[in-house]
Amino acid sequence: MRRIKKTAAFLLSLCLMGCAVGQGEGVQSSENTFTSMEAEPDLAYEVPVDSPNIFVNQLGYITDSTKVAVFYAQELPGTFRVIQKDTGECVFTGYLEEKGDAGGAQECAGYGDFSEVQAPGVYYIEAPMIGRSYSFRIGDDLYDQVFMEACKQYYYNRCGMTLSSEYAGEMAHNACHTGKALLREDSSVSIDVSGGWHQDERGSKMVEPAAKSIAMMLLAYELYGDSFTDYMGIPESENGIPDLLDEIRYEVEWLLKMQDPATGAVYSGVTIYEQGAGRSGAYVEPADLETARAFAMVLAKFSYLYQHYDTAYATECLKAADRAWKYARLNENKDEKASGWKFAAAAELYRASGLQSCHWYITDYLTEEKFEENMDEVIFLGCVTYISTKQPVKLVLCENISKALMDKGEEISEQARNSAFMTAGNTQQEMLLNMMYLTMIDHMISNHEYENMIENHLHYFMGRNEKAVCYIDDVGENNYKSIDESAGIMKQFDADSRLIFMLSEIVGNYRD
Ligand SMILES: [Zn+2]
Repeated sequence: MRRIKKTAAFLLSLCLMGCAVGQGEGVQSSENTFTSMEAEPDLAYEVPVDSPNIFVNQLGYITDSTKVAVFYAQELPGTFRVIQKDTGECVFTGYLEEKGDAGGAQECAGYGDFSEVQAPGVYYIEAPMIGRSYSFRIGDDLYDQVFMEACKQYYYNRCGMTLSSEYAGEMAHNACHTGKALLREDSSVSIDVSGGWHQDERGSKMVEPAAKSIAMMLLAYELYGDSFTDYMGIPESENGIPDLLDEIRYEVEWLLKMQDPATGAVYSGVTIYEQGAGRSGAYVEPADLETARAFAMVLAKFSYLYQHYDTAYATECLKAADRAWKYARLNENKDEKASGWKFAAAAELYRASGLQSCHWYITDYLTEEKFEENMDEVIFLGCVTYISTKQPVKLVLCENISKALMDKGEEISEQARNSAFMTAGNTQQEMLLNMMYLTMIDHMISNHEYENMIENHLHYFMGRNEKAVCYIDDVGENNYKSIDESAGIMKQFDADSRLIFMLSEIVGNYRD
């Protein structure tokens, strides 16, 4: 196979001469020097594509965006070509820019910039001695559909209601888990906890991960509200409220059921158990303080953003948040170590209701805890809310937060600059978290380099990675389904909300 590949690649390199390379420096459009390939043998189609070493975003590139393909080879050729898939015509020839060592694999990485190609269509890239890439599109609305689909995953996972094929397509299903669930601690008691979103195949529904995902999406809505439409294709579409908020309200209605009306405590979640003969039952798992704080945080956040659409419901949510907060305060141990959820809940309650005791806690937390070092998603969310509240704040604390975010941004971009695929993070989850910081910082200071970096991560997830696999959706010639059905980012409950956060920035920037 290897030999065939090399032979074909060699012949290809001869063909390359047909598509004249410009004389100037750097990348040059072949628009005026294009020579038809028709007279040449149709060798382009014989180059094996089973393991391409030219990596592209398989969904594609926005018309006027920076378009770069990554090349891996033991020895990089000087040029590459962009070929129109239907016609086999070469529309562009560019020079490869060497990046250097591709990570110890005795291969070099190179970059090919083809930003000049702007005509909508389907293309692939080929280079002598390397072969060709998977195909990709160039167009204007490429990411809108993916963004909408990422948002819609939560609708597909709605529990306790029938999803018709009109809205859910092949994800349609009958209402599930509609019966009451037993309290784990006292199985003589059963309560109604139907509704909400499934978080895994079994149908588990836990409060803390739900709070994290909702909070992430609500922040995306706060920062890039224009990215979210009212025509996502859910039953609540076109009701005058952005569909994302409608979808989140469906989960909030379930969250409210998870609170014990007598004490304000919040059950930590609902788990499913097998009863045999294909039947299953559900347990309501015990309440704990962190769950109460997560609940308080996310309901206060939702209340604040939803008040313009339904004041009465927003007030109900804020009251529930307050009850959970007070329950946690009343039952906490004085020696307990600082909690990120407690800080984030205090920040949301302070913004939504001006509760002075919350401000005291925020001030203590930001002064005494090394929040910069311990920064995670939850602390990040609390920090962002604190610097954006209209309530009185301590300026020096806001400055500390901004500085911590900026430092983090620099650290991330340094990593990305040194990476072959222009990414920061060792795992997809790390990359998504890092993009959460950059997205926030870009909102604060509009940094063009950061915008490019965020988009580079989208390219990575869409196939411009070492395995040439599209991890986001089942698009492209080679997507995650070919390796692992569960590897799709959209199919993971927590990762999907981070993806939505990242995409809201990209989609929002292209709509400007
Ligand atoms: Zn269900």
